[in-house]
Amino acid sequence: MPSPEAERYAPRMARLGSVEGGGTKFVCAVGSSIDEISAVTTVPTTTPDETLGRVIDFLSEHGPLDAVGIATFGPLDLHERSATYGRVVGTPKRGWNGADIVGAASRSLGTPVGFDTDVNGAALGEGRWGAGRGLDTFAYITVGTGVGMGAVVNGAPVHGLVHPEFGHIRVPRDADDDFPGHCPYHGDCLEGLVAGPALAARWGRPATELGAITERAVATAAHSLGHAIASLVVTLSPERIIVGGGVAKLPGLLEATRVQMVRSLNGYVTSPAVAGGAVDYVVPPALGDRAGIAGGLVLAEQALHR
Ligand code: ZN
Repeated sequence: MPSPEAERYAPRMARLGSVEGGGTKFVCAVGSSIDEISAVTTVPTTTPDETLGRVIDFLSEHGPLDAVGIATFGPLDLHERSATYGRVVGTPKRGWNGADIVGAASRSLGTPVGFDTDVNGAALGEGRWGAGRGLDTFAYITVGTGVGMGAVVNGAPVHGLVHPEFGHIRVPRDADDDFPGHCPYHGDCLEGLVAGPALAARWGRPATELGAITERAVATAAHSLGHAIASLVVTLSPERIIVGGGVAKLPGLLEATRVQMVRSLNGYVTSPAVAGGAVDYVVPPALGDRAGIAGGLVLAEQALHR
């Protein structure tokens, strides 16, 4: 038991709210770190009014909070001086275009609000407590309903013009592969080839039910993903690449992707991290599905100290 003296001088842990906004659900948590979560809830993604209303109700019930961090699907306006900062912009998701996420949270809760993309959030979470710990420059890729990439460069998430949209880069195809792809904008961009809906369209069944054709599906997806990751290696030069999301859990996909990435680089990048088979270079998230909530906590903390 700490002495009254020690208690008096111990710094009070900040009480933070964390929100991970996804296309089907918003996960909300309250705590001071990823290992000190006191409450969690999940709210279905319906309309912005209803979903954000329920998120705010949950955070209010568990308040008072010192700050809130929100990492959500986008596209988002992340430019703090922009008139539409904190909003979802240009999303095809019905009803969410223009949804004022930061405005709704800060008006109702009266706390500082940190805000970023879902993948940047997951990258920050992994950087603080997971597979990116101790690294300055790394990337977090998610392969699930879509393909996204959060990049941390010199310790800060990259926003740039909008934010990186790695899911939509083009990748070389095998000459005999005639699948047209599934992206409404590009057809066979990376997302159009390896996201869950693309796998379902190509193989005629959901990614979780590939059964006997899993090996073939994994080899095809790894071909695309490995080439894409090789492009990331030679552009961003990340110290590590974390690959999460539902599709990334397909048995053998990560292993086959490493092989394909090394093959695509063809000896050009001589760093032992890559040339040695990349086992510690292309890795699954250490926090598993908690990376997003961890990211919200980091964003909240940053908002508190801004
Ligand atoms: Zn695309």
